[in-house]
Amino acid sequence: MTNPFKGNKLSLPSKPCAHCSRPMSWRKAWARNWDQVRYCSERCRRSHKETSA
Ligand SMILES: [Zn+2]
Repeated sequence: MTNPFKGNKLSLPSKPCAHCSRPMSWRKAWARNWDQVRYCSERCRRSHKETSA
């Protein structure tokens, strides 16, 4: 696994946004569907859909 936060003491998971590639840090709101979260924001999700069509 690649972790963009090397050396960070926080053990919260993180992964890059599928659209803008920015690292998203784990949010409590995503606890249930973290595996399904691919975009850092609604904006990215929408724009990714439009551009990948
Ligand atoms: Zn994004």
